[in-house]
Amino acid sequence: MTTKLNKALDNYCRRTGRALERPVVFMFDMDGILFDSMPGHCKAWKAVCDQYGIDSDPDEFYITEGRTGASTIDMLYRRQFGRPASDSEAKEMYARKCELFKALGEPPVIPGAKQATETVLAAGAVCVLVTGSGQKSNLDRLDREFPAAFLPQHRVTAYDVTHGKPDPEPYIIGMEKVGAEPWRAVGIDNAPLGVESSSRSGAFTIGVRTGPLPAGALLDAGADIELNSMTECAEIISRLLLLDRGV
Ligand code: MG
Repeated sequence: MTTKLNKALDNYCRRTGRALERPVVFMFDMDGILFDSMPGHCKAWKAVCDQYGIDSDPDEFYITEGRTGASTIDMLYRRQFGRPASDSEAKEMYARKCELFKALGEPPVIPGAKQATETVLAAGAVCVLVTGSGQKSNLDRLDREFPAAFLPQHRVTAYDVTHGKPDPEPYIIGMEKVGAEPWRAVGIDNAPLGVESSSRSGAFTIGVRTGPLPAGALLDAGADIELNSMTECAEIISRLLLLDRGV
């Protein structure tokens, strides 16, 4: 693990021109990082597409994961109907998708996710949420499952961004929330578009393969390190918190 981390830190330094210093902020994506919600999201997207007469494959939503709901719906409309979705169509379809998702029940917390956030807090660093989601049922649950980890002023959701992932804006806003420089920030995401967003923001980027993506897919998307579980991620976080503070 140490060799893998050292290699990742070298990669980061090469691609950004700066060495990572002891991070002050860890930015967590929500779906597929904190909650094992992706199977449910894929099911709900497929079901709502069927209702709207849109052809889709449930697995395609693992690939487009990270986009905002509005952006996903726009893509689906253009593909199926050859035109963008109107604001009211997108709002209605997204509300329906959220209902279908909620009806599936609460997704489990991902093993290792609590340990990861607790490690950050114990070291006096800050957790920030950076999600493309606007799913109220999951956002409301954060306080219950991760008490005091994601303060209201430390959340970036679908409602806070003009350009969603893979644009770097969501992770840049995440750093701005705590006034952190990119070389003192870490982004943690499970989706190629989310990893790309974090990587382009200049933050050290951890890709965690919690879904059916092939090995290496998150490195290809720009991750500095690719891990297979949030338990591994918690261990890497504790190592990063031992880095030099810099000058
Ligand atoms: Mg995700």
